[in-house]
Amino acid sequence: MTKLKKKVKLKMPAKIILGLFVTLFASVILFFIGYMYLESNLKKLGYSEKASEFILSNFKYQYVQDYPSNKTLNAAFESQYYDENNLEHYSKIVYKNHSHLIKNINSLLKVGYTDREISMILNHGDDKSVSDFSKRERIKYLEEFYTYSFARLENYDRYIHYMNEYGDDEETTIIKVNLNLDKEDYADYVEVNDYSNMVLANKHYYLGEAYVPKNLIKVSSEYLKNSKNEVEGVNEAVGNAITMIKAAKAEGYDLRINSGYRSFSDQEEVYHTYLDLYGENYVLNYVSRAGFSEHQTGYAFDFASGNSDVFAESEEYKWMIKNSYKYGFIYRFLKSKEEITGVKHEAWHFRYVGKKAAKIIDEEELCFEEYYAKYLGRID
Ligand code: ZN
Repeated sequence: MTKLKKKVKLKMPAKIILGLFVTLFASVILFFIGYMYLESNLKKLGYSEKASEFILSNFKYQYVQDYPSNKTLNAAFESQYYDENNLEHYSKIVYKNHSHLIKNINSLLKVGYTDREISMILNHGDDKSVSDFSKRERIKYLEEFYTYSFARLENYDRYIHYMNEYGDDEETTIIKVNLNLDKEDYADYVEVNDYSNMVLANKHYYLGEAYVPKNLIKVSSEYLKNSKNEVEGVNEAVGNAITMIKAAKAEGYDLRINSGYRSFSDQEEVYHTYLDLYGENYVLNYVSRAGFSEHQTGYAFDFASGNSDVFAESEEYKWMIKNSYKYGFIYRFLKSKEEITGVKHEAWHFRYVGKKAAKIIDEEELCFEEYYAKYLGRID
């Protein structure tokens, strides 16, 4: 008996230990299977591995079931700046791919902006300008300016300043300031490195001395006002100009080209010739300084009529105003837009921008600067 008892006594702890071990082992296996199952569910729900780890260890699994593919929540769970008090806000703020997104959202919430306002703010600046903006006090006219998709966060103070000074409406103010019209002509310019048909050159957008368009070709002399001249332009623009001239001819109009591409040094010469002839005031209104002329892009042409020496009085001019957009050309320096283009009305100067842009510009009665600010100046 004693012997048996001893045997049993010896076996019991071993069994318990074995039992415990098996249970523990099974639990660990089950736990991992369960964990992997939940993690794969979270992945299907659109959450990253890092975010999933956070979700599972902070008991947010149930919570995120209501927010499938919520990128802002995902970023919050991944971020070292995650703040439990802001959880409800994260889930409602529209995501932006900014490296300080969560930190900035926390700051903007602290300033007192609502979720909708924060989504609006994030839409109007890059990571840096949102970071700078989140450090300032609440602004007074958020809605007024930032309902316009092309308004920029970093320009807010300039909008206010410009509006107080000139009294334009919000949209016009945004367009003008984004184009740097609140800065001095030729002084504080944007350096341009764009060779596409969307290139902007004016008193605030500088091409520089090294800018030479790609694919320049000569315009055949039969299309020129003066057949002894040599006129060049970017091939795409020249091709469409010729198609346009032929279309005008088919309708009985004698449309011709007077000039096209001008190099930096050509423009310098033109500028000084006119400066000597007519003085400072004239060149300020009509002749660009070298590096600032649209003729240097190879997309601008001065047109002429074969029937008249005053283009503005010719039938060809009227035809151009009605039809040029169909060939991708726009009437560049309109009387009504002098304040924005910075150039006095020119009847002869047309610019190639492609058919799509030309149609919008024609329909919405814009000048190229306005199109540029509204359609190309968005922050996405
Ligand atoms: Zn011109």
